[in-house]
Amino acid sequence: MNAKLPVRVRFAPSPTGFFHIGGARTALFNWLYARHCGGKFILRIEDTDRQRDTEEALRSLIDGMRWLGLEWDEGPGAGGPHGPYFQSERGEIYREYVGQLRDTGRAYDRDGAVWFRVSGQPALIRDRIRGDVRRLEEKDFVIVRSDGSPVFHLVNVIDDIAMDISHVIRGEDHLSNSSKHVELFQAFGREPPTFAHIPLILKTVGSGKMSKRDSGASIEDYRRRHYIPAAVRNYLCLLGWSPKDDREILPIEEIIRLFDIDGINGNNARFDEKKLAFMDGEYVRALPPEELLVRARPILQSAGLLSAGESSPQSEGDGCDGYLGAVLRICQEKLRGLEDLPGFCGYFFSRDFPRDPKGLEKISKTGDPAARIREFLEAIRGDCPFEEKSLEGMVRRLADKSGLKTGDYIHAVRHAVSGQMVGPGFYGLLMVLGREEVQARLENFLHTQGLLQD
Ligand code: GLU
Repeated sequence: MNAKLPVRVRFAPSPTGFFHIGGARTALFNWLYARHCGGKFILRIEDTDRQRDTEEALRSLIDGMRWLGLEWDEGPGAGGPHGPYFQSERGEIYREYVGQLRDTGRAYDRDGAVWFRVSGQPALIRDRIRGDVRRLEEKDFVIVRSDGSPVFHLVNVIDDIAMDISHVIRGEDHLSNSSKHVELFQAFGREPPTFAHIPLILKTVGSGKMSKRDSGASIEDYRRRHYIPAAVRNYLCLLGWSPKDDREILPIEEIIRLFDIDGINGNNARFDEKKLAFMDGEYVRALPPEELLVRARPILQSAGLLSAGESSPQSEGDGCDGYLGAVLRICQEKLRGLEDLPGFCGYFFSRDFPRDPKGLEKISKTGDPAARIREFLEAIRGDCPFEEKSLEGMVRRLADKSGLKTGDYIHAVRHAVSGQMVGPGFYGLLMVLGREEVQARLENFLHTQGLLQD
């Protein structure tokens, strides 16, 4: 019925806790719909609960929205013709609207509170996901408390009217409020907006609704753990919507093109933290080198592996051609997430790296690893060019001669220079460390081994 109106949607959070998956998904669906239709996306802060609203919650919300790239056309920081966008600053407007209800006999005072007089007719809620729902609101309800504070239902509807909201896309938990809201719209002489109540998000296991307390619920956590915001956003899109062709990883421009309210699934969506982590890994492995570099540097810096402004102990430039760029180039395809970065490649930046506690045992299974390391060391001290193909040939010759496998050499040397049994491609790793560093680390290892043996 509102098909001809310009599309104006809003996200209307109450800043009472941290920004969570459910809220972010609601914000995202509104944003997608606005962008799909070329409409406007409004951020309205429903801060009418002085007891529970906090400055911190507001920060978490604003930062989280920005981090996810859900920029708003009107709202805090963006301004707009329908402000203020904080309900706590709109008292004047609410008083005027309540005045209208009094004038038409739809509001009256009782016990110090202002009450709304219901119509006695069932309210028709036109919902694009649930279909038409009719519900009778049987009893009058309070719209302004005796302390003068307006009730959620009242201000929510007034603002949707005052801000010319065309579609209300929100969580299904609000479906039961909608009959009150439709009554209020009609009492103000307005056509209610089109509703779209999006299904709940269930916990990973069981039939319970995902709550703010569940693991993986906080958007801020993903940010702290260096998730790629586009990956989190992509995952959130799939919580109740899909492009219907089995694809899961899609550029946001394409999601915007395909997204529509009719495509929202009526069934509850299930949150899957592992899938989100996997999707993030896919994004990490696909990052352009420059972007990976920009994201990796501060992570390695706060892990104490890189100092500010310096690429490495062997520093040679800062860009993708520098040492850090080379490390990332060989590690990227193996990363599961940026959070793993310090653990995965810390040894490139320090000789003081942890050792896989099972490593020595593993490399000792086919005999004394020190002997193999010594052979390898001899070869690179000699005239073997320090270059992937030559090193590979050299290791093959050592294996042929001793009757061992090339892997026996590779594992021993890898463990000696990195402490690890897995990691980036072996020859790439050697090249990035460089001949001198590899030599020094192997000698170091033998030295320690010698001490251990005697
Ligand atoms: N402030 C309400 C909430 O956070 C908004 C409800 C709505 O979107 O209409 O749930």
